[in-house]
Amino acid sequence: MPPYHYQLFVIGGGSGGVRAARIAASLGARVAIAESFRYGGTCVIRGCVPKKLLVYAAHFAEDFADAQGFGWTVPPAEFSWPQLIEAKNREIARLSSLYEKNLQGARVEVMHGAARLVDAHAVTVNGQHIAAEHILVATGGTPFVPQIPGIEHAITSNEVFDLPQLPRRVLMVGGGYIAVEFAGIFHGLGAQVTLCYRGEQVLRGFDDDVRAHLHDAMVTKGISVRLHEDVTQIEKMSDGSLAVTLAGTPGAPLVVDAVLYATGRVPNTQGLGLEEVGVALDGAGAIPVDAFGQTCVASIHAVGDVTDRIALTPVAIREGAALAHTLFGPDRTPADLTTVPSAVFSQPPIGTVGLTEAQALEQTGSIDIYSARFRSMRHTLSGRDERTLVKLIVDTASQRVLGAHMVGADAPEIIQGLAIAIRMGATKADFDATVALHPTAAEEFVTLRDKVTRTRAD
Ligand code: NDP
Repeated sequence: MPPYHYQLFVIGGGSGGVRAARIAASLGARVAIAESFRYGGTCVIRGCVPKKLLVYAAHFAEDFADAQGFGWTVPPAEFSWPQLIEAKNREIARLSSLYEKNLQGARVEVMHGAARLVDAHAVTVNGQHIAAEHILVATGGTPFVPQIPGIEHAITSNEVFDLPQLPRRVLMVGGGYIAVEFAGIFHGLGAQVTLCYRGEQVLRGFDDDVRAHLHDAMVTKGISVRLHEDVTQIEKMSDGSLAVTLAGTPGAPLVVDAVLYATGRVPNTQGLGLEEVGVALDGAGAIPVDAFGQTCVASIHAVGDVTDRIALTPVAIREGAALAHTLFGPDRTPADLTTVPSAVFSQPPIGTVGLTEAQALEQTGSIDIYSARFRSMRHTLSGRDERTLVKLIVDTASQRVLGAHMVGADAPEIIQGLAIAIRMGATKADFDATVALHPTAAEEFVTLRDKVTRTRAD
């Protein structure tokens, strides 16, 4: 065996890379990892974690208002964006340093710097040449923004967590996860929010009832949702505000203080030397890999967003762990990604697992749909006009539950539990046989009785 410095060299200290490094080291491998920005990656530094902290912050507005229905007199509340951002920064710094400490504790060599591939078994970091038996590319993704005039005045999820002040008027561009989540955050914190999306309904790919339900809830809260709409130009005015020209209403620019582009992400594959060492990229600039995370070069592997498959943290973690076991464990282990649940931390939030109605119909030909819309107990006294949606999709023939969807308070917490049942192949009869937990919103999932049967021919 050539004299490698390490058995595994990981490029990228985000969720997937860190998990692969730690597990590989725990299996006895000599491992090093390099990160050019901050350990923790998108999720910890400018994704899931700070986003969820901002979601909590935003929710207090409704909590204060709802409290009055329960007998509280709440004095006018004041909010400080700089105070929130400072608290968030402290927590992110704590987590980031914890990531480094955990790596060091696992005896992984931790490096700061941008790594570049030199050949199938070597990288350079900070001018140092390092030989490794295996190299893992786990460099994640970066926001994509379409090139329109004035795009330099817009921000993305990279900048939104560090704005010096809360913008008074905000435009979200896009109708995916980030756009709807930040629409809820900024609205809750008191900004005037407009979301413009080029398609016919937000959250393409989610169940249609879920999409419509969230759309209506956002509009009810006072968010202006403009569908079939796109931005053609952004102009900076002398007072610092932004005049945004919309394709659907060209004569009347929308004047805002910030424009947040949430128009998807692209894999971070530039400048790594991938193609020079023989790793061809796909049309989206992503790294194609097999079920075990191996690229077309046997010693080079990739996990997480850089492979452009399911861009979710727990998926990257799964892939990183599976890769480490494949390389250094007793068996080759593909990441098991059957039944991946997902959540959107919109307001109200969404939890979903399994197939949508349209996907289930397409795959099975006949489905039973059970759904309920109701006012949660909290809102009987708060007076808030907000409904919860729960929906189960069942295969008519086998009676297996193929999908569970919810929009409403705690939906992500509830769906995580249901994901276990659905992954295990639970049938509608199993749901019905489960005793309800009263009074909760979750109990609706075991008390759904009215069904609508749909076949592909309908
Ligand atoms: P998404 O892929 O979720 O949504 C992108 C949105 O931008 C879509 O509505 C898309 O429209 C629209 N869009 C794309 N290109 C253009 C364009 N050129 N002009 C106008 N609109 C455009 O991406 P996000 O940026 O919201 O999030 C990135 C990814 O990060 C997500 O897909 C998800 O995997 C992950 N994420 C997960 C979260 C969670 O788990 N809660 C939270 C945040 C992010 P169309 O539908 O027509 O293509």
